[in-house]
Amino acid sequence: MALLLPPIHGRLAIAGEWSPPREDFESLSPADRSQVVGRFPQATAEEVRAAVAAARQAYPAWRRTSRIVRAEYFDRLAQLIKRDTEAIAELMARECGKNIAECRAEVVEGLHMVQYVFGVGRQGIYGDVVASEIAEKDSYVRRKPWGVVAVITPWNFPFAVPLWMLGPSLLEGNTAVFKPSEDTPAVGQKLVELFQEAGFPPGTINLIHGDGAVGELLVRDPRVNVVLFTGSYEVGKRIQELSAGMPDRIVAAEMGGKNAVIVCDDARFELAVNAGIISAFKTTGQRCVSASRILVHEKLLDHYAEAFVATARRLRFGDPLDATYFAGPVINQAAMQKIEQYNAQVRQTAGVQLLLDGGPAPGIHPGGCYMSPFIYRTEWRTDLPALREEVFGPHVALIPFRDDEEAVRIHNDVDYGLSLAVISENYRRIRFFRDECDYGMGYVNLPCIGAEVHLPFGGVKKSGNGHPSAAGLVEVVTHKTAWTINHGTEIKMAQGLSARID
Ligand code: NAD
Repeated sequence: MALLLPPIHGRLAIAGEWSPPREDFESLSPADRSQVVGRFPQATAEEVRAAVAAARQAYPAWRRTSRIVRAEYFDRLAQLIKRDTEAIAELMARECGKNIAECRAEVVEGLHMVQYVFGVGRQGIYGDVVASEIAEKDSYVRRKPWGVVAVITPWNFPFAVPLWMLGPSLLEGNTAVFKPSEDTPAVGQKLVELFQEAGFPPGTINLIHGDGAVGELLVRDPRVNVVLFTGSYEVGKRIQELSAGMPDRIVAAEMGGKNAVIVCDDARFELAVNAGIISAFKTTGQRCVSASRILVHEKLLDHYAEAFVATARRLRFGDPLDATYFAGPVINQAAMQKIEQYNAQVRQTAGVQLLLDGGPAPGIHPGGCYMSPFIYRTEWRTDLPALREEVFGPHVALIPFRDDEEAVRIHNDVDYGLSLAVISENYRRIRFFRDECDYGMGYVNLPCIGAEVHLPFGGVKKSGNGHPSAAGLVEVVTHKTAWTINHGTEIKMAQGLSARID
């Protein structure tokens, strides 16, 4: 693994200027914690205030710039992402430990978002012309930007998720302060360097680094109109609480999941096994949409469990820069400990059948955060937190169900509702799950992972507050205005209201 590169110098970007480098915290490679990817400044309260002030100052000119001209900056950004795809993917693999093939796919997803934004710059989602009940009047529904947008993102999609938010925000005329995860600051910084190279005017996108305390300073600033957050439920809830005293504050929170694959008794068997394996273990189970519950019809479960475990045993977790591995390490030691606590909880629970006892695993480098798959079988039960909380690692339960009603009941018996996959050949049954389950993204005869930027990306319950990310975010980063023009020479009012002044 080509990890021995010099550490990146972390800087903040405020009003188009890069701060001198500072070394307040380190970004370490999850594949080998002795390797420093970069050293970064933890933004101070003054620097956070300066970043918000810079975004505020840049806002009027950016808002007045033609939407089409704003979109054209994204065309330049797309060319730069294409030029640097491999470098970005390698940096991502080193910094967050995802396999290089997945990292390339994520860069392509970010590119698609940028291309989408460029494309819709000339399209009609800008607004509508609508009729008025007075023939002489034309009414317009127009979207206007809010102002300053704070973008706070997680480590697991450090390139695509920020672009899902920054793309629509900047296209619509908002300016932004971006705080990437403290686990992936180098990828965040690289993204802002590309924005700058693409020529986005100073202050339209500002970068601050740091942990949750820095994020909280940003959220507390009343000059921030919109907070676009993706991350855990706990932090999303905190951000909504902090914003509650600001009635004109919009918060879009995309949060965790406790996703499931439902395998019906008419499923294509091999497809069902593959869908379960990919859903549970791709990205080492660290996607918001990863499945940690596979609900299998009781008739199939013995056979399914055998094939599922045999396949899981063959998965190879290793060097993120080697595309032949299925997946890489987990993000850090704290994540390892958290996942291992859930594993231990299951081991100690009576009535649970352990099928594959995984956990911390030796990696190529002694300091690597590698974990192997942990698989167990249990009836649905409410006394085991691992079955109801987000584990975010290679940890999965196989759970039997007797009929479709029971599968729905088990599926919905968690506080989250992000993604769902149904494996069946029966269209009536598929429709039943579509209508009865709680989720934001549903898949049929597929894994429950995999997003495309033109679709809404979001969930319900603890997974999201109803403002899906990616293309759908245009709705959040703008507010609708009504604009009515009278083409007549006298005033006529709607609803028969008299315009006479006696
Ligand atoms: P996290 O919630 O720990 O951190 C996310 C971001 O919030 C980071 O930038 C962090 O510094 C910041 N933050 C932490 N405390 C804060 C506070 N008090 N105020 C403001 N900002 C604060 O999440 P993570 O560990 O980086 O990512 C994993 C989580 O993200 C999982 O729960 C996963 O399901 C979720 N996720 C959700 C989606 C989605 O679209 N629904 C996508 C990817 C990841």
